[in-house]
Amino acid sequence: MINSATIFLGPPGSGKGTQAKVISSKIGAKHYSTGDMLRDAVKNNTDLGKKAKEFMSKGELVPDSLILSLINEVFLRDNPNRFILDGFPRTVNQALELDKLLQKIGRPLTTVLYFDIPDEEVVRRITGRRTCTKCGSNFHIEFNKSKNDGICDKCNVKLILRDDDKEATIRNRLKVYKDSTSPLINLYKEKGILRKIDASASIDLISESIIKFIS
Ligand code: AMP
Repeated sequence: MINSATIFLGPPGSGKGTQAKVISSKIGAKHYSTGDMLRDAVKNNTDLGKKAKEFMSKGELVPDSLILSLINEVFLRDNPNRFILDGFPRTVNQALELDKLLQKIGRPLTTVLYFDIPDEEVVRRITGRRTCTKCGSNFHIEFNKSKNDGICDKCNVKLILRDDDKEATIRNRLKVYKDSTSPLINLYKEKGILRKIDASASIDLISESIIKFIS
């Protein structure tokens, strides 16, 4: 049996997003990435996007009220049976509100996977990342080069270094993670649902251990 309600918790650049995509399609779970939803909102210049943009480019957290109404909206719309939350919750308040929402839809959390990784590895991974402005695919200047330097393999358009992937921003994002998000590690440890993953390992090895933990 595959557990149904999982949070992927960890610093930016720990590989949560990559794994959430792989695992959700493997187990048929819905993948909710608040970062992706916000980037979409910014791209489409929606009210939410306009409000979120400044926080995101500085590496700050978007205010809880905006994130919580976003999550409430998609959960009440989809009422998902199985899901992976990637990048949410990011504050203790978000975690408490999530509990209330999950109680409302009758799907309690089953597992929280904590992606453990040293800061310097995060900086190396993120500052080397290049993103397609059209399809959002990610490449890396060391680990996952595009066939033509600086050009997306799929869309043939230019790859960029996202504002929130620049070094000063990533250092700030790591600080924000430590201050606001890392307290969730203990919160979920105390609930007995936290499982630690070595997020420095290879993508395949990490996928294997995730499947083991949630099966
Ligand atoms: P991510 O792609 O998950 O690293 O998110 C990119 C950016 O979106 C973050 O640096 C925040 O500015 C914002 N963001 C994403 N998820 C949240 C959240 N749960 N709470 C607050 N801000 C968020």
